[in-house]
Amino acid sequence: MSGKGTSVFIKGLFCRCPRCGQGKIFKGFLKLEGACASCRLNLKNAENGDGAAFFVISIVGFVTASLAWILEETASPSLWVHYFIWFPFIIVMSLLLLRPAKSMLISYQYYYQPHLFEGD
Ligand SMILES: [Zn+2]
Repeated sequence: MSGKGTSVFIKGLFCRCPRCGQGKIFKGFLKLEGACASCRLNLKNAENGDGAAFFVISIVGFVTASLAWILEETASPSLWVHYFIWFPFIIVMSLLLLRPAKSMLISYQYYYQPHLFEGD
């Protein structure tokens, strides 16, 4: 990626306003602010449903399955070791990725459909 695409990606990654890159877009863990505190961009219509969850499930699932397979092939630990490692790993990774994933989707939504953010 280069140019404007990179900027959209970075604003999303750091959970910042898709227009000015300054204001935070979350007021709760996943609850959005009504508008950007810095440039007043309307965020009320910024909604991407289960989009972020889909990407997080796909990424965490792929990574977990790959690492679990590698562990099984190299060390072949008993089943409870797998539970002990992968259950917390899945929860922590999902919680860490959910906010930036949702924020990135909102950034790209603003990039491709800016009319959804008009008005106040
Ligand atoms: Zn802003």
